[in-house]
Amino acid sequence: MTDVGILVDNRFLDHKIDVPVKECPERLRNLYPLLKQRPCYEQIKVFSATPLDEDEIAAVHSRIYLDQVREHAVKENPFSYDKDTYLTADTPYVAQLVAGGCRRLADAIMDQEVRRGFALVRPPGHHAEIGRGMGFCIYNNIALTAKHLLERHGLNRILILDYDVHHGNGTQDIFYQTSQVLTLSIHERDLFPFTGQARETGDDAGVGHNINVPIPSHFGDKEYSYILGNLVQDVIENYLPQIILVSAGFDAHKDDTISHTEISTQGFAFFIQALRAFAESCCDGRLMLILEGGYNINALADSVLATMDALTAPQNKPPGFIYAPRAQKVMETELPSDLRRRWNLGF
Ligand SMILES: [Zn+2]
Repeated sequence: MTDVGILVDNRFLDHKIDVPVKECPERLRNLYPLLKQRPCYEQIKVFSATPLDEDEIAAVHSRIYLDQVREHAVKENPFSYDKDTYLTADTPYVAQLVAGGCRRLADAIMDQEVRRGFALVRPPGHHAEIGRGMGFCIYNNIALTAKHLLERHGLNRILILDYDVHHGNGTQDIFYQTSQVLTLSIHERDLFPFTGQARETGDDAGVGHNINVPIPSHFGDKEYSYILGNLVQDVIENYLPQIILVSAGFDAHKDDTISHTEISTQGFAFFIQALRAFAESCCDGRLMLILEGGYNINALADSVLATMDALTAPQNKPPGFIYAPRAQKVMETELPSDLRRRWNLGF
């Protein structure tokens, strides 16, 4: 078995407009050739996409929203639906293709064609709620993937870890009332979409299964290491997910001006070392990343390549977590006590 699969498809570049925008095809156009030159590319199994149809997208999104996407996609102004989230005639098909590709990679992991994988896609998805797209996101790719894993593979404990620097409001919205998907978002506070407070912990059957870690500006590798070792690891050990899905955004990079968070390129590789170890401990190594944000073209490429190196390394370097008082303080003061009790958090 090849250990690592990736999803790449040049048709993901077809969602585009003629004016400069942050979420642009260059994000992948720059990355794909660099990836092909990387030594690790030799050992990767490459997947391409087939689209989901609208009925399949409706597993997560409302019919009214799907109609809106179709209607606005053919209007002259690509920003007629939303000021950030442009829609063109090609957009619905590309977004369906991305979602279908993510499903294919998830199936490959479940069917043991590969152990872990990374879907290198755009447009991103984690801001897309049940009834609306926003923040460059059309359809919620990771939510559609999780829903498929619940319904077609019979899973009932899926962790979605979101380390994009923005709150994964869409994913939270979609799974807020279920315990079958635990959503954990680490995001910079006071940043778009200005949601994701720690007291939002889930409703009904989902109580305690939505964890938000809003962090102040200027957190970096050390603080994230502390959060991984003292929060994420404990949640995983207590929830015992059957697969770990990751909304992998790289806009927390220190060179990405969209945020004030300061992760280094190697910091992102460390995330993978930790997540591989966690996935080995609870779910036979099943780990799947889906690309979300990352708007400094070079920092995005470097970080994805470092991530791929860590995903493909034959021996996973066991992580050593760092003590970071600033991170400890934020978690002690922010996280509600019922969450700490439920997940046996030791701070
Ligand atoms: Zn983001």
